Amino acid sequence: MEKRRRVINADLVKELSFLGCKVLEGAPLYKYSSFKIGGNADFLLEIPNEKALLFCLENISTYRYMILGDGTNVLFSDNGYRGIIIRLIGEFRNIKTLQEVIVAGAGASLQQVLNNALKNNLVGLESVAGIPGTVGAAVYGNVGKRDEWIGTFVDNIEVYKDAKKKCLSKDQISFSYRKSNLEEEYVITKVKFLLKKDTKNDSLNMVNENIHNRVLIQPLDMPNAGSIFKNPTGYSVGKLIEESNLKGFQIGGAKISNKHGNFIVNTGQATSKDVLALINLIKEKIKLKFNITLETEVKIINDK
Ligand SMILES: Cc1cc2nc3c(=O)[nH]c(=O)nc-3n(C[C@H](O)[C@H](O)[C@H](O)COP(=O)(O)OP(=O)(O)OC[C@H]3O[C@@H](n4cnc5c(N)ncnc54)[C@H](O)[C@@H]3O)c2cc1C
Repeated sequence: MEKRRRVINADLVKELSFLGCKVLEGAPLYKYSSFKIGGNADFLLEIPNEKALLFCLENISTYRYMILGDGTNVLFSDNGYRGIIIRLIGEFRNIKTLQEVIVAGAGASLQQVLNNALKNNLVGLESVAGIPGTVGAAVYGNVGKRDEWIGTFVDNIEVYKDAKKKCLSKDQISFSYRKSNLEEEYVITKVKFLLKKDTKNDSLNMVNENIHNRVLIQPLDMPNAGSIFKNPTGYSVGKLIEESNLKGFQIGGAKISNKHGNFIVNTGQATSKDVLALINLIKEKIKLKFNITLETEVKIINDK
């Protein structure tokens, strides 16, 4: 039985509502995750602007909280989340373009930023074509392909840490494969991308090709959270899983995709327990067969 803790007092809820925040008690997290899995969060706050965010951060510092984008890289627990889930909406979804610079709010869609770049003949972001989710999460997890990633085009980032605003320049941020030094510490609010103007480029073709390839190899017709594991140097997890004859293997409602070995799909009624059991099974088999330790790419959010 899921226990719900009342974590925000009524006065704070009133103040947050007054500042334009949407406050949802007992929010069903499966609705906020592309996996379509997850119990209820104690609270979910949708925050429309910086004034409200600052007020919120100043008043919830003693509570457990996390920022959620579009939920395309998370596995929530069947027991939900004891604490506050924060989503950045409204002004945080703005995108502005000026010459070779795009400034995007952390809640903006990454694909809208790419469309903006294409419209303005700005090149650089083609490798993120078709990657779902928000700008904030894209930078946090340094999305992209195996050796091309979004961090290369970041000029600076606005963040909040301990309810204080900071601007981090590119030399203060380190990016590597699916990783940045922004993890866990910061609330990212705005990202400035520096791109290149090129009217003779082949950007649109590259973008179309990337999207076409995704449709061919990814199980986009079933709920999933993208690649489950990071590719170890020199290996493709999809191939390792295929060579272990695990494609199509199912635990409860969670199944290793027949189309792509590194995707777990929700066949309808999958629970986080099913997905975690499948993740552990894959890890064990790959360790045994290839002596390779897999690291998850999907963020597993516990219910504590
Ligand atoms: C079909 C499919 C294909 C995918 N293909 C790729 C791919 O090719 N390459 C790739 O790299 N990824 C891929 N992904 C994974 C996913 O799209 C990315 O990780 C994406 O950046 C997640 O964005 P989101 O807004 O959904 O983040 P969420 O899933 O909501 O959050 C992910 C993490 O980011 C943190 N976060 C979110 N916003 C902020 C913020 N403003 N400040 C601080 N932390 C924040 C969250 O706390 C969480 O830990 C794919 C996913 C799917 C479903």
